[in-house]
Amino acid sequence: MTIKTSTGKIGLVGCGMVGMSFAYSLIQSGLATELVLIDIDHARAEGEALDLNHGMSFVRPVKVYAADYAALSDADIVVVCAGANQNPGETRLDLLKKNLAVFNGLIPQINAVNNDAVILIATNPVDILTYATARHIVGDPRRVLGSGTLLDTARFRYNLGAHYGVDTRSVHAYIVGEHGDSEVPLWSSANIGSVSLRQFIGPNGQGYDEEKLNQLFLRTRDAAYEIIKRKKATYYAIGLSLLTIVEAIMRDHHSVLTVSSLLTNQLGVSDVALSLPTIVGRGGMIKVLDAPMTSAEIDGFRHSANVLKTNWQNINSSQSA
Ligand code: NAD
Repeated sequence: MTIKTSTGKIGLVGCGMVGMSFAYSLIQSGLATELVLIDIDHARAEGEALDLNHGMSFVRPVKVYAADYAALSDADIVVVCAGANQNPGETRLDLLKKNLAVFNGLIPQINAVNNDAVILIATNPVDILTYATARHIVGDPRRVLGSGTLLDTARFRYNLGAHYGVDTRSVHAYIVGEHGDSEVPLWSSANIGSVSLRQFIGPNGQGYDEEKLNQLFLRTRDAAYEIIKRKKATYYAIGLSLLTIVEAIMRDHHSVLTVSSLLTNQLGVSDVALSLPTIVGRGGMIKVLDAPMTSAEIDGFRHSANVLKTNWQNINSSQSA
């Protein structure tokens, strides 16, 4: 595979709360040389560009401007956060119909000007939109990634770290499967500084408590509902998740991240996009890992795949009816 020279240019389609949280963290990171803002509401993209540009005295130079799709022709990565958000009580899958229509309109416009860039998707339901983009719109699975369960994994690590009284970064625990209600915690490999959760005793004397751990998982899985109930949307942590993925791609870090990509027979699952620990570097998905799992975890993962496949089939049959 030939890898094109990096331009340091990032495109962002969808300048709402999620997109701009990513953009705000990106300009502070020094990673990009240019950031192109695109939104169906062009005035909003212009306003956001002005606002970010007024911070240029305080960050390393980066050219930020609102434009249309033609400006993406030499972008390294296009981050897509465009589309409807969840209303209180609405699931991510409820958004599918609305946001699939948005994607059918905008992804071909990206692809028409740039068929090299990595397309990184945050819009929900992120796994099905990643699948539709990789399989049916772009047709190149390696360069289409969804943010997947990276955010859920971050929430899980935070909740476990807060419970045990240790730094979040010392907690190694993954959420795989759907970014949504069927996601799966990998308890069997979860550890804190190499000590499995079954053996770990925190500085505050917290030891293994299955019921408590299950509550921490439910708090992780349902976090978006809780946040949306209180402040209508979630955006800061997904913004940082997107920055981490973008950094891994731009710097070819080969970071292992739970991103969503089109699976090809991992744990017997194919033709659906969902998250497993994945090596991410220049060009996008480098390798999806065969994470060790118990048979119950594998069952949970396959169930998650089936939930997504069923939703994809349902949307297609409802649209062809
Ligand atoms: P928002 O309403 O604040 O912003 C959405 C933006 O998309 C708006 O600026 C809108 O004008 C723009 N847009 C809509 N249709 C467009 C089109 N056809 N072309 C270009 N721009 C278009 O919403 P938000 O809070 O930023 O959320 C965006 C998406 O991210 C939602 O689908 C939400 O569910 C999802 N989200 C994902 C995660 C994750 O972990 N993957 C986390 C939080 C939110």
